[in-house]
Amino acid sequence: MTLSGKSAVITGSNSGIGLGIARELARAGADVVLNSYTDSDEDHALAAEIASEFGVTARYISADMSKGEECRRLVADAGGCDILVNNAGIQHVAPVEAFDAAKWDAIIAINMSSAFHTMAAAVPGMRARGWGRIVNIASAHGLTASPYKSAYVAAKHGVVGMTKVVALETAEDPITCNAICPGYVLTPLVESQIPDTMKEYDMSREDVIKNVMLTRQPSKEFATVEQMGGTTVFLCSDAAAQITGTTISVDGGWTAL
Ligand code: NAD
Repeated sequence: MTLSGKSAVITGSNSGIGLGIARELARAGADVVLNSYTDSDEDHALAAEIASEFGVTARYISADMSKGEECRRLVADAGGCDILVNNAGIQHVAPVEAFDAAKWDAIIAINMSSAFHTMAAAVPGMRARGWGRIVNIASAHGLTASPYKSAYVAAKHGVVGMTKVVALETAEDPITCNAICPGYVLTPLVESQIPDTMKEYDMSREDVIKNVMLTRQPSKEFATVEQMGGTTVFLCSDAAAQITGTTISVDGGWTAL
């Protein structure tokens, strides 16, 4: 399977899941645009590494996904895209009565509204070129809830709903729009929390992973960024051409409980 000749924009892709997805799309031959709100040498070096490792064109474009006009500018500066992956996201945890209103606004903007703006900017070009794949990175929290995550759960449920709407609006075009709902994924951020949690609970790494972090993940294994990338590549394949307006859970059984 090859995505050579296709161009992909992945929001929030200078670390974690977004970077994993960018790498797997590049491995499949797609030219990729990486993004975050920073503009450092390291950001551009990530793109250069991907270009040399996979022999594709890779660029880094700085744009702040909390701002609608920057989301739209990202797609414009990329020259449109065949594949759009909405991945940028942040988290904040607090009971609803104490939830900081500015944090609420930021999570709704970055985790949900950014996808509205990038999809609005990308769909006309996909229609014109006669091919498009939109993959929205939602969460198991797009389908279920946890306490203290009002903004995150609202945003991710919103992404799942918006995914269905855009799928219906593009149903007669050769465009699909789906959401991936990851459970707990082993990213550098998650990995960095393990040593402190081991100290806090006086537990082994295995026990922390199994009994603290993955209590809701029946497989008791983290999903990986490579699996998120592989699922994205699948959704871009011909085999997935009739998969649209739905969610794929990559959550070790979380949402089966
Ligand atoms: P991460 O913090 O490693 O990555 C988030 C990315 O978004 C980073 O590249 C960051 O720079 C970028 N970002 C943050 N604010 C931005 C902004 N204003 N503009 C542009 N980019 C911005 O986290 P991750 O775990 O890789 O999360 C990626 C996505 O996957 C998020 O949407 C998250 O909700 C979702 N997710 C993660 C998990 C998990 O267990 N890690 C589970 C389910 C869903």
